[in-house]
Amino acid sequence: MQKSELTLFIKAEAKSLGFLVCGIAKADSVNEPTSAYLAQWVGEGRNGTMGYLQRNSDKRTDPRLLVPGCRSIVCVALNYCPRPQDIVKGHLHLSRYALGKDYHKVVKDRLFMLLKRINELHPVQGRAFCDTAPLLERYWAAQSGIGFIGKNHQLIIPEAGSYFFLGELLIDAELDYDVPMLQNPCGDCDRCIKACPSGALKADGFDARQCLSYLTIEHRDELPKNIGKMMGNCFYGCDRCQTSCPYNRDACSTDVTDFWAADALLAMSDDDWHNLSKEKYNELFADSAVERCGYQQLMRNLKAVE
Ligand code: SF4
Ligand code: SF4
Repeated sequence: MQKSELTLFIKAEAKSLGFLVCGIAKADSVNEPTSAYLAQWVGEGRNGTMGYLQRNSDKRTDPRLLVPGCRSIVCVALNYCPRPQDIVKGHLHLSRYALGKDYHKVVKDRLFMLLKRINELHPVQGRAFCDTAPLLERYWAAQSGIGFIGKNHQLIIPEAGSYFFLGELLIDAELDYDVPMLQNPCGDCDRCIKACPSGALKADGFDARQCLSYLTIEHRDELPKNIGKMMGNCFYGCDRCQTSCPYNRDACSTDVTDFWAADALLAMSDDDWHNLSKEKYNELFADSAVERCGYQQLMRNLKAVE
């Protein structure tokens, strides 16, 4: 089969599976500025206690070591932007990405389906990833031309914003490759930097150790003393660097029902959250990415919120 034909088929099937965009990058080592920035970032300890970012740097900077034989990286994005009714204003809440079912599974299930459909037409070997491997997802998404990495360090799709989960198929077929966007459309804007309550976002980069998302989700120890004021009413994650971004102003709500907030979650009052039992936690988050945080840690966050 001609590679151009296979490329068009993959993109059409990705769309039919609900992915908003699909771009394809050549599997190669990451560029020098990116690998240098990553090494410096980890070297300065900006990854905090996320020790996994110090491991597998060879695979992280060259996906051909992660999936031997892979030639192409098919990058997709699935919308999770909440419906207005899924965001209860003025009440304690979770970060927008965590309102629905565990995105790792939802995105990967669709990628497995995509791989299956490709194989029905043309035999390929490949693996699917969604935030589950040492792979620089945003870098590859930008390389595949589906968006650009904004000053908020999120992948921004110019026509749709940044409320997207990214996923990748690494396959051994050669395809037609897309090209990255030429310019960074952030321009002079610095709204996300100004909106960041903790100073984690800076003009010269990002420090995870100060980021509320990292502190409330990844960080297992005690929280810094003054964190409550910065948290506002979000006790799991923090969305300010996205809500402040003009590219999200007209973001469309997701039609992926798996990402809609469950009624039980929406029914929670502030009192319910503060008195959350382990049983209720298990009921609310059995099939959610919040499970990663764990009950004790979630209660730690709730105690800190002011
Ligand atoms: S998630 Fe919040 S704390 Fe982290 S960089 Fe964005 S605005 Fe700053
Ligand atoms: S808020 Fe402005 S600077 Fe930040 S990512 Fe969005 S466009 Fe770029």
